Amino acid sequence: MPRRAHLLVLAAALVPLAAADRSEVEGYRAAAARIAGAALVDGRSREILQHLSDRIGPRLSGSPGAEAAVRWTRERLIRDGLDARLEAVTVPRWVRGEESAEILSPAPQRLAVTALGSSEPTPDGGLEAEVVSVGSFDELKALGKARVRGRIVLYHRVLVPGDAQQDYGALGPLRTRGAVEAARLGAVASLVRSLGTLSARLPHTGNMRYEDGVPRIPAAALAAEDADLVQRLLDSGEAVRVRLRLGCRTLPDVESANVVAELRGRERPDEIVLIAAHLDSWDLGTGAIDDGAGVAAVMDTLRILKSLGLTPRRTVRGVLYMNEENGLRGGRAYLEAHRDALGRHVAAIESDSGGTRPVAFTALTGEGGMDVLEGIVSLLAAVAPLAVEPGGHGGADISPLRAGGVPLLGLRQDTTHYLDWHHTAADTLDKVDPGDLARNTAALAVMAYALAEMPGTLPRPAPEESAAPRPAR
Ligand SMILES: [Zn+2]
Repeated sequence: MPRRAHLLVLAAALVPLAAADRSEVEGYRAAAARIAGAALVDGRSREILQHLSDRIGPRLSGSPGAEAAVRWTRERLIRDGLDARLEAVTVPRWVRGEESAEILSPAPQRLAVTALGSSEPTPDGGLEAEVVSVGSFDELKALGKARVRGRIVLYHRVLVPGDAQQDYGALGPLRTRGAVEAARLGAVASLVRSLGTLSARLPHTGNMRYEDGVPRIPAAALAAEDADLVQRLLDSGEAVRVRLRLGCRTLPDVESANVVAELRGRERPDEIVLIAAHLDSWDLGTGAIDDGAGVAAVMDTLRILKSLGLTPRRTVRGVLYMNEENGLRGGRAYLEAHRDALGRHVAAIESDSGGTRPVAFTALTGEGGMDVLEGIVSLLAAVAPLAVEPGGHGGADISPLRAGGVPLLGLRQDTTHYLDWHHTAADTLDKVDPGDLARNTAALAVMAYALAEMPGTLPRPAPEESAAPRPAR
């Protein structure tokens, strides 16, 4: 190849994508109206979600439900005329077993409890100990080994939505690291007041982690009311003795998969707009809000674009990730399998905050990107008034793509009541309004279409080689 041609190839590799301009978006009003109409009037998202919730049910990684979901979603996507394949992911297999907790003294009564994901079991017959309560790791350390050794540590903090010091993100470490910090000081078990916002005596599960070199003590969540009961007894000066039984266990890893389906681009099929949700769920409910709603929106987006004959310039790739909840192995596996193609991922969009009314796209993009996104959401004014908010990481599953400088978007729903049901037995189909779900599908589909169709692409955020994947919500 002549030297000049080499330089051209090099230049093309370095600057492969022209920056999009907001004016490009105006031409898509008619297509956006057709897409929204198809989602709202003739959409299938509710039907998909109902199948996932009612006919498949809980989908914890490695479980029969998760495998049924992989099979069914792939078959359904193929039936809708899409190319759908499986990409292997090795996932942990944790099973819950029988679980119970009760106050033995001062007055016997049962507590609503559930093991945290990845927890070790209690010994056969359970364990009994006095409870010591703290509100933070600093308070725990201040108590010291003398007052923690041999005890059950209860992390008692009330989650207050909208309060940066007391919200889900701030209190999350009490759940994920609580057992490790308690075990360092000799505790025999760890309990956390459920990270939820409703008083319905529901314990909220969620993942926790152990650390090498620290004893692996059992960890569970108490329903808010029951954590408050224990706290009141302690506040009155009583010694509170509790028996805890957790029958959970970790089995060998299981081969599972991300489900990947594509509508191949008509001009630049190598360039990809990725739309994502996670197929796994916790085991207590049927995973309708977390994240069946997102799965339904992704699947119906692909079907709608295909059925309307709106094949965009670039490929729209739907990824139904496995193992968001207790390992993020699907997100990491996708990164490893597609590392060489990250430069051709022009955007990734995840929906993972429920199925209520869509309110915003969060966006991590480069200079000028927000303006383009504002233009695209203006196409959706008749469907829902959507904001564009800077920042965020799109979603846990797509967050590893940050390392490749991929613009990351999150479709965010009204989360006022999300943490009422999140990770509980009450995460069920009735929590999702069909009209709101269809509006989410419309928003996702129009955004994906515009980003895949416009001549230019979103400016990329500065790559962050050290960017750590965000933990599961
Ligand atoms: Zn989720």
